[in-house]
Amino acid sequence: SAKANGRGRWAFFEACMEEHVRTRESLAHALRDAIARSKLDVVYQPQTTIDGTKVLSVEALLRWTDPEMGAISPATFVPIAEETGLINDLGLYVLRRACRDAAAWPHLGLAVNVSPTQFRHPRFIEDLRDTLEACNFEPSRLEIEVTESVFADNDNDILKILTQVQEMGVRVALDDFGVGYSSLSYLRRFPFDTLKIDRSFIADLEIAPHAHAILSTIIDLGEALGMKVVAEGIETRQQAVILQRTNCDRLQGFYLSRPIPPSAIAEAEARLSGEDQQAVPLRA
Ligand code: C2E
Ligand code: MG
Ligand code: MG
Ligand code: MG
Repeated sequence: SAKANGRGRWAFFEACMEEHVRTRESLAHALRDAIARSKLDVVYQPQTTIDGTKVLSVEALLRWTDPEMGAISPATFVPIAEETGLINDLGLYVLRRACRDAAAWPHLGLAVNVSPTQFRHPRFIEDLRDTLEACNFEPSRLEIEVTESVFADNDNDILKILTQVQEMGVRVALDDFGVGYSSLSYLRRFPFDTLKIDRSFIADLEIAPHAHAILSTIIDLGEALGMKVVAEGIETRQQAVILQRTNCDRLQGFYLSRPIPPSAIAEAEARLSGEDQQAVPLRA
């Protein structure tokens, strides 16, 4: 009967939920262990000048390979860390590791992603200051990246924290710009140093009729507001060439460089600058 059928479906749904919760719990457990044992890696993706020849800074990105589960994406484990109270330890882990690693490339800036929950933690500002001091890290080299979701609930508190970050000399970037809910209103409320345009706008270039107009208008808006504008997710030469015809300041994406371990950064700089014999991706 329809009723039995419905009950069957419900049982199936419950089984899936149980499985989901179990998976999440075991992931959280393994993640806690990995943080405690310093088993997470941090890789770095270069951000270049608009002609793609000079690396200006790098973005720190977490990598986790569990011995049994294999590689787990930050898109999976960062939300789990947020939900299970691990995000502060995780956030501090990546910040410390990145500031330490970045001592090897003092001429480059460093961008670190900060999740909304970590950002709202009462100790965030103190932890940030302590880490910079402990690593003797020049604050103006550091940029924290927040997404629009950071504004989800209490605006005034968020604005206060963002201001404290800037007063410390640390820069603030708005990440994944343009895909959130009411993106434009955030630009009005806070003077971000950098605007990172979401990579979906770049991917759209080859398929959507108005993509060019929308992209260059967003870039001009960022410029008009005095922000540094970064295009994320550049995967092809064609996309890079299109961006070079706009007011965009910087490029980031697989076409320039994948995220790489700290030991590979000098090599990436040499390759992009054309100092070694490898192909030069772009010359303005
Ligand atoms: P995000 O901050 O927007 O980072 C950029 C993501 O795009 C990275 O994915 C990067 O590998 C990927 N990417 C870069 N260039 C290209 C490209 O040309 N094409 C494509 N398809 N992708 C590109 P990843 O490393 O998997 O990280 C995903 C997200 O997870 C990040 O997005 C960020 O929101 C979060 N995340 C990563 N590391 C951390 C961290 O240390 N802390 C926090 N809170 N979040 C992190
Ligand atoms: Mg980011
Ligand atoms: Mg992004
Ligand atoms: Mg500019």
